[in-house]
Amino acid sequence: MARDPKYDVLFEPVKIGPKTLRNRFYQVPHCIGAGSEKPGMQAYHRAIKAEGGWAACCTEYCSISPESDDTMRVSARIWDDGDVQNLAAMCDRLHHYGALAGVELWYGGPHAPCHESRDQPRGASQIASEFESNIYPRYADKDDIKLLQQYYVDAAIRSRDAGFDIIYVYGAHSYLPLQFLSPWANKRTDEYGGSFENRARFWRESLEKVREAVGDTCAIASRFAVDTLYGDKGVELEKDGLRFVEYVDELVDLWDLTVGDIAEWGQNAGPSRFFEENHEKPFTGRIKPGNHTNKPVVGVGRIVSPDTMVAIINSGQFDIIGAARPSISDPFLPQKIEEGRLDDIRECIGCNQCISRWEIGGPPMVCTQNATAGEEYRRGWHPERFTKARNADKGVLVVGAGPAGMESAMILGKRQMSAVHLVEASNEIGGNVNWVSSLGHSDGRENIFRGTARGLGDWKRIVNYRQIQLDKLKNVEVHTGSRLTAQQVLEYGAEIVVIATGCHYSTDGLNSATHETIPGADALREPWQLTPEDVGLGRKEIGHRVLIMENEAYYMGVTLAQKLAGEGHEVFLLTHRPDLARYMDFTLEAPMMHRELHRLGVHMYLSTMIEEMNDGVVDAYNMWDPSHKERFEVDSVVLCTGRVSDDELYRELKADKEALEANGVEALYLIGDAAAPRMMVDCIFDGHRLAREIDSPRPAVPLPFIRERRLWGAADNRSYEEQLLGNVDVDPLPA
Ligand code: SF4
Repeated sequence: MARDPKYDVLFEPVKIGPKTLRNRFYQVPHCIGAGSEKPGMQAYHRAIKAEGGWAACCTEYCSISPESDDTMRVSARIWDDGDVQNLAAMCDRLHHYGALAGVELWYGGPHAPCHESRDQPRGASQIASEFESNIYPRYADKDDIKLLQQYYVDAAIRSRDAGFDIIYVYGAHSYLPLQFLSPWANKRTDEYGGSFENRARFWRESLEKVREAVGDTCAIASRFAVDTLYGDKGVELEKDGLRFVEYVDELVDLWDLTVGDIAEWGQNAGPSRFFEENHEKPFTGRIKPGNHTNKPVVGVGRIVSPDTMVAIINSGQFDIIGAARPSISDPFLPQKIEEGRLDDIRECIGCNQCISRWEIGGPPMVCTQNATAGEEYRRGWHPERFTKARNADKGVLVVGAGPAGMESAMILGKRQMSAVHLVEASNEIGGNVNWVSSLGHSDGRENIFRGTARGLGDWKRIVNYRQIQLDKLKNVEVHTGSRLTAQQVLEYGAEIVVIATGCHYSTDGLNSATHETIPGADALREPWQLTPEDVGLGRKEIGHRVLIMENEAYYMGVTLAQKLAGEGHEVFLLTHRPDLARYMDFTLEAPMMHRELHRLGVHMYLSTMIEEMNDGVVDAYNMWDPSHKERFEVDSVVLCTGRVSDDELYRELKADKEALEANGVEALYLIGDAAAPRMMVDCIFDGHRLAREIDSPRPAVPLPFIRERRLWGAADNRSYEEQLLGNVDVDPLPA
């Protein structure tokens, strides 16, 4: 199919300084955990998008000096020739696929803790970071300012030598140039502080110097938070925001616009439960239509709909569609629009799992929707290409159509297995996504700067995408409303059986805090006790006063508190941890969720664990001082304590090897929550991984992956990788 002419505008080239984008699709800088130390991951992840049609792909933030070291988080670095060599691999591969390469030059000031380099960041004023713990910058005097600006120039020259086409002087997310611009961070009284012109001086001079050094060969971009959302204490759109764009417009070739700061950068990378598509428009959408710039503008907002993209271009909001998460979720998004395959687009669900692993520090990026994200090099996975399995003549039965089962059946179908049957006990595929995606709404009131508790409805895209793909695969049959017994599985006629039967919340309070059940907990028999499924599926009456015991440290407990408080219940939320829903710090949902729970009047008890419960009387104790007790008299208790795999079918089948053999079942596998309860992103990965390796010598055990590391005593690590290339189907770097 050809593309619909209404999308033609998206494929027009755009000139940025001395360079030209082939179309309007642009992967803005975003973190993946590769940096300069994993050049293979860096090159292959970015280049997959170039292959998929993106006109430019950028690094993540790229440190210009050991004074700007973000360890434990992983940034790119361009400190020396070694970094140039490693990042050049990314540039080469992007150029091979016809895309431009961008680098985001970064100096963090006090937000860079320098835990690896043991160096010391310099800053506009000596005020500790609100993002880091106890990190103060050294006050930058005028000599220091010259040195800092030289760091930018040196890094820009190295970037040009590496092959980058677009060079950023990055100030968004409250990094150094914006620290000088913002009264929040800049308390100086010299010519670099005070008036607007003085506060803008550092950024302006840095742009001038970088432009002078490389501006004839590279496009100069600046990423700028047009409003830091601190009111008049920071950069406000109507004051410094619009004015700064006008003030330095002649010095940039491309504006990359955002909102917010680093301490709450979820206002920029907005989770879907609080922010809809193109949520930054009230801010970033003011620059171009207001004629504050003569230069091309790129902006983001988890923009996945081609119609929204066209509206953005036609309204003049942006010239270029920026994407971080939508490009991770579907690296081939432009090509699918080009080919008129809109129903094949794997839309980002806005869960921010991708961000979470970077925030944790160390692990590579993951994606709920796209299991191949971050695996392009080390496992050789391509998001759109699937080889025919060597055992494709076998029939496969997948039992359970939750995230892991759906993904596995879909990939097995794409690997051309002769017949794949996906059999689900309930009446629709999707598993727990179906009820989880109905949660997260409160009373619909705006509760934060601009976010609204709009719920987890976008998570349903996990099911929608797979449903469409499964429907298209002629070798895959989906059967719902059929709960198979072990005997039925044996007699099904499949040579390969994959069990993906999911998990359930424990009904007895088994939890991670005590490793015990909770005395008095029995949600199977007691009508006043509920599991999260009982709440989500509306299986039991809920009284007015509700206590939620939360031991998972992620979204479920707080989401149920939000739901019930929004419906008018009085909610008591207990967690054994000293913080609430810790993992939401990493997905950037935490600040907004905290505001939401406070606004809804949820009573929160940290470091508190139930001791026992009887007839609505709940006795709890403080984790640090067990002698400190608290008694709650409530109508209902929700046990969000722990989960248990539904693996009985697997255990029964596995126990009778003779029956398996007699019925021609050659292989039996266990995946997803049924193997071990986990996050959806990891369930989907598990299902994908098994299907990718279904023809490996031992599919139950993952094949080794390329570890980008230096081998002691070796000049480089290629020999180890070359060994693995026999197992991993990685395209060689282009000549
Ligand atoms: Fe989108 Fe979630 Fe994938 Fe991130 S992990 S790109 S938010 S689907």
